Amino acid sequence: MAYVTSAGAPPATPPATSGGCIFCDALAGGDDRKSLILRRGPKAFLILNKYPYASGHVMAAVNRHVGSLEETGPEEIGQAMELVQTAVRALNRAYAPEGFNVGLNQGRAAGAGVPKHLHIHLVPRWSGDVNFMPVVSDTRVLPESLDTTYDRLLAALGS
Ligand SMILES: [Zn+2]
Repeated sequence: MAYVTSAGAPPATPPATSGGCIFCDALAGGDDRKSLILRRGPKAFLILNKYPYASGHVMAAVNRHVGSLEETGPEEIGQAMELVQTAVRALNRAYAPEGFNVGLNQGRAAGAGVPKHLHIHLVPRWSGDVNFMPVVSDTRVLPESLDTTYDRLLAALGS
């Protein structure tokens, strides 16, 4: 089921010369599970963050290797935002978070880790959660493997 959306013809346009861009590499790869891609769209895709701030941290990226909002068309950014919306629904089903941070960092000065390929972060939040919380006596950190998160979100996306 994970491979249904990735089956079929290769992209019509060759991948942009990206020089090892993680988003372009993921898109070009044939194994969506390995690449952590949850959903592919004609102009944007949804991918799990390999280095999550919290379990369920996903990103919606445009398919093209462009790094700024002014380089994207309304359809691309619209589809990326639709994927954010879809992911919010799936995360609500799978994780029941109490809130979300949604953010787009354009440019390295703004904190973009991959400044050349536009993406929107979606991070589920719970009241009282603390990122990178040290394990102390009365707090429990429940780490979850990326595989588990992938399975849970994929199931929630399909439901
Ligand atoms: Zn790229």
